[in-house]
Amino acid sequence: MAKTKLWRKPFDAAQKTTAPGKVLIDRERCKGCGFCTEFCPTGALKMSDEIGPKGYLLARVEDESKCLNCGLCEIICPEFGVHVIPQKNESKD
Ligand code: SF4
Ligand code: SF4
Repeated sequence: MAKTKLWRKPFDAAQKTTAPGKVLIDRERCKGCGFCTEFCPTGALKMSDEIGPKGYLLARVEDESKCLNCGLCEIICPEFGVHVIPQKNESKD
């Protein structure tokens, strides 16, 4: 994914961090539509080669460290098969 160039940078950008998220994909619900993997803004999710109980390829977490806890995958999943749990934010503010 191409990095967006911002026209200005917040003064405290170096001190601020986003709280990461832990992504859980429900194997029983996933139907392999690919919405979550296609629209995750950071590429944290990918489709796997594993076939789930419904007979579809499953989505999987490719790199949890990339998750920004935006919740888009949770909202966009038509099967209510993704859950994002906020992790502790380590920033000191
Ligand atoms: S959006 Fe939901 S059903 Fe579609 S691939 Fe992702 S987890 Fe599976
Ligand atoms: S919460 Fe946002 S960044 Fe994290 S996996 Fe879902 S869509 Fe990607």
